Amino acid sequence: MKKTPFATLEQVQQIVKEIPTPFHLYDEAGIRANAKAVKEAFAWNPGFREYFAVKANPNPFILKILKECGFGVDCSSMTELMLAQALGFSGEEIMFSSNDTPAEEFVYANELGAIINLDDYTHVSFLKETLGDIPKTMSCRFNPGGVVTVSNGIMDNPGDAKYGMTPEQIEKAYVELGEMGAENFGIHAFLVSNTVTNDYYPMLARQLFTLVVDLAKKTGRHFTFINLSGGVGIPYRPDQTPNDIYAIGEGVRAAYEEILVPAGLGDIAIYTEMGRFIMGPYGALVTKAIHEKHTYKEYIGVDACAVDLMRPAMYGAYHEITVLGKEDAPYDQTYDITGSLCENNDKFAIDRKLPKIEMGDYLYIHDTGAHGYSMGYNYNGRLKSAEVLLCEDGSYKLIRRAETPKDYFATLDCFDILDNMNYNLPKQV
Ligand SMILES: *Cc1c(COP(=O)(O)O)cnc(C)c1O
Repeated sequence: MKKTPFATLEQVQQIVKEIPTPFHLYDEAGIRANAKAVKEAFAWNPGFREYFAVKANPNPFILKILKECGFGVDCSSMTELMLAQALGFSGEEIMFSSNDTPAEEFVYANELGAIINLDDYTHVSFLKETLGDIPKTMSCRFNPGGVVTVSNGIMDNPGDAKYGMTPEQIEKAYVELGEMGAENFGIHAFLVSNTVTNDYYPMLARQLFTLVVDLAKKTGRHFTFINLSGGVGIPYRPDQTPNDIYAIGEGVRAAYEEILVPAGLGDIAIYTEMGRFIMGPYGALVTKAIHEKHTYKEYIGVDACAVDLMRPAMYGAYHEITVLGKEDAPYDQTYDITGSLCENNDKFAIDRKLPKIEMGDYLYIHDTGAHGYSMGYNYNGRLKSAEVLLCEDGSYKLIRRAETPKDYFATLDCFDILDNMNYNLPKQV
């Protein structure tokens, strides 16, 4: 089975008249429909809130749409907090889930009234010293250690991860935070990434619910929320079965009824911090074939590179590719699809079966809506691409222009070399 793009060749041909490739294209209708499904799936929990993980896609237009959908934001750095503030997120609409956190970021998060989620036991005293007064609401991040197996061979290794506190540490943290004046408490854990199974959240929920019942008894602390964080995956490969968010919500509800309600904790809010599941499928990187090379393999060179989408180069991640307009042509060629970086891992696909590609064809690289543009960098002096929103009514809108050489050189303003820079470059053809 092949994946279907959310945009057609005709739509892309229209956009490129104004905005040259490469660009990330986002699907507003898809984003809104998915957000609605997430809210419905957890509607049984009156306090439910999704805090979108800003690092997955920090475009303010996207964040504004998600705000309209009723989501909060999960920030992990000063600039993400600044973006949240500028967009009108405030107080408990902001989760600050950070690690190795600089003092000034705790100060700023506290000024915004964000919920601070502590990554480590030593951050309890660090926060006290930094802020003076501990906020009324506090969260702590849990790490059970060891190896976690979900299902279908999906597993991860929290014992090797730098995040979170041990059971003994987290208990001490709640006791001490209470002594310092905190009144309401939450717990957070992120154990496995990109889980393409409906079992992950229910498994994690069961574990955290049991722990909270125990911690509430032992410490006497008042728990008001349990944050299941991110990790809900998407089917990057066409043969994978997509997660069913309704089944996931129902699985969490069953654990809630079974563990929290009988313990008298049936008023706890469920929070999530999904990034990938919220945005991944609703973005695509649109790029043009500009070179073909026939050596020991067949290569197609495109005008995007790993600067625009790092996941294949960084993790060997699979992203489905559609040659627009050739959806129904025979997949009878085998290509490596490459970018221009002087790094041999700058390949969007290796030995990929695709239709015959002609120069000028538009390639649609699927599932770049999360951890796509946002992971970008400037290696080889490559400039970051534009971002375009395909609006619900079928029109499109530039929501971030492409970088220019001026942007790239801007941080050299301490040198007079900038006075000698010639920005009169050949026009893009
Ligand atoms: C990355 C991250 C998320 C989002 O993860 P996804 O896999 O994109 O859902 C949520 N919370 C924290 C703390 C993260 O670091």
